[in-house]
Amino acid sequence: MSRNENDLRSSRRSDVPLNTTNSSNIRSNTAMNSGSKTFATDDDWDTPASNPTESSNDSTTGSIDGAQAQNSVTTNDVIATSSNFDSMPIKPCILRGLFASGFEKPSPCQQTIPSALAHPETGIVRDVILAAKAGSGKTLFFTVAALNSVEVDIKKPQVIIVSPTRELAYQTFKVACDIGSFAGVSIALHRGVGNKTKKEPTAFLRGVSVKSESYISFGNAREGEEQIIIATPGRLLDIITNEKGVRISPVKTIKKIDTSFTRLFVMDEADELLSPKNDFQDTIAKIFSNIPTIEFCQKIIVSATITDPVLEICRQILQNPVQILVKKEEINISNIKQYYVGLTEEEDKAACLLDIYSNASIGTSIVFANTAIKAEYIYNLLKEKGFSAGFIHAKLAMDERDGIMRDFRNGTIRVLVATDLIARGIDVQSVSVVFNYDLPPSLENYIHRIGRCGRYGRVGVAVNFVVEPNNSKPKDIVTLEKYYNLDIRPLPSLDILKM
Ligand code: AMP
Repeated sequence: MSRNENDLRSSRRSDVPLNTTNSSNIRSNTAMNSGSKTFATDDDWDTPASNPTESSNDSTTGSIDGAQAQNSVTTNDVIATSSNFDSMPIKPCILRGLFASGFEKPSPCQQTIPSALAHPETGIVRDVILAAKAGSGKTLFFTVAALNSVEVDIKKPQVIIVSPTRELAYQTFKVACDIGSFAGVSIALHRGVGNKTKKEPTAFLRGVSVKSESYISFGNAREGEEQIIIATPGRLLDIITNEKGVRISPVKTIKKIDTSFTRLFVMDEADELLSPKNDFQDTIAKIFSNIPTIEFCQKIIVSATITDPVLEICRQILQNPVQILVKKEEINISNIKQYYVGLTEEEDKAACLLDIYSNASIGTSIVFANTAIKAEYIYNLLKEKGFSAGFIHAKLAMDERDGIMRDFRNGTIRVLVATDLIARGIDVQSVSVVFNYDLPPSLENYIHRIGRCGRYGRVGVAVNFVVEPNNSKPKDIVTLEKYYNLDIRPLPSLDILKM
C-alpha cells in the first residue's frame, strides 16, 4: 500500500475533533450517514443486493432501461430513481434553475439523483459513487445534490467540490451558478495558479487581474463565506489551512475558509484525484484531515472510469455508498464511431493530419498529443496551413489557458491541440471529432479523451493515429479493443468526418 493510501485511510479513522456547535447544526439540518440506511443495500461492495427490504418511492434495482436503453446505468444497489426532475425531492428554486437552463428530462445517470439527496422523510443522506460515461450529465448530478443540500440560512461553506483542473472547476462553477440562479445560494470558485515553471507572476500576464481568474464569487455572501466552494486541490488545501489566508495578488488576500460546517464533499474525476499514480492523492488526504466534519459528511465520488485501486480507496473513505457503476465494457460509447489510421512511421503522422484537415470539412475538433512540445508542434503545423487552431497544456500560464478555452468554446478556435490536461470532463458540445495523434499513455484516458466529442448522446468520431509498419492491425488498437470490448476499424473515408 502506498503512503498516500495510508494517509487517506488514517484521515478516515482518525479521531477528527468534531466541533460540537457546528456538528449539531449540521445534524439538525441534514441527517448524517453514519451507519444508517435509507434504502436496502448490499454491504458487500461487489455483490448485488439480494433481498431489498426498504426502498424509496420510485426505486428500482439493477438497470434503468427504457427509451434510452443504450445509455443505461447499472447499479448493484437498490436506489432511488425518478424519470422526471419534478418528481425528485429537489427544492422548487433549483427545479426552476434546471428548467430555465433548458434541462427538461434527466439523463439515465441523472435519474438516480434522488439517491444522492437527503431522504424526504428521514433526512438521511448516503455516500455515492457514480461511474457513468463521458458526456452523460454527471456534472448536473452532483451540482443538483450540492445545491439541494445547502441550508440557505447558514452563511458558511457547506459543500466542497474538488476538480482536478482549473478548466473543469470553472465549467462546474458555471453550471452551479446557472442551476442555482434562483436558489439564493452563494458559490465560490478557487483555482490554483497552475504553472509554477514560469518565472513571471503568470496571473498578471496581459494585465488580467488575478482576482477574476483564481477567485470568483457568485451570490451575495461575504468573501470566504460562500456556501458552495468549487476548487482545485492545491488551492483548496491552501485556503482551508493557511491561517493567514492566501495571497492572490499584491493587494488581495483571501482569508482562510472555515470548513467546520462542511456537510457534502464531492470529488469530480475521482479517478484522477485518487489515483495512486499521481500527486493529488496526498493533497486530498491533507484536505480530508483538515475538515473537522469529514468523517460524518456525505461524500459523492464521480468519474467516467473508476479503476480498481481507486475503488479500493473509495472503500476506505466512503460509508456504505450507493454505487452507480457502469461496467468498463459498458462505458463503450456507442454514439462515438472509432477508427484508426495505420502509418508506417511516426513522421507520417504530420502529413496525414494535414491531409485530413485539408480534404475533409471538419467542424470543431480536438487533436490529442502526449507532450506539450508535440502539442505545440502540431499546432504550428496547422497554423502554418491557415487552420483556425489553438493549443493548450499545463505549461501555459493560467490566463492563457483560460483565454484558449474561451476561444474554443465560442468557436474562434476550431481545432484545439491538447495534452491530457483537457482529456477529462471538458464539455464543448460542438466538438464532433477527436484525433489521437498519439494514443494516450493510459488505457483509461482513451475513453476520457474520445468522450470530448459525442456529448450528451450526439454523434462523434474518434480517429487514432498508430504506427504499424507491418500493415497488420496495430497491437495498441487490439489492446484497446480487448480492454473496452470495442471494434475499431481502419478509417474508411474522409466523408465520415463531415458532420
Ligand atoms: P456532463 O457529462 O456533465 O459534462 O454533461 C454533458 C453535456 O450534457 C453538457 O453539455 C450538459 O449541458 C448536457 N446535459 C446534461 N444533462 C442534461 C439533460 N438532462 N438534458 C439535456 N442536456 C444535458
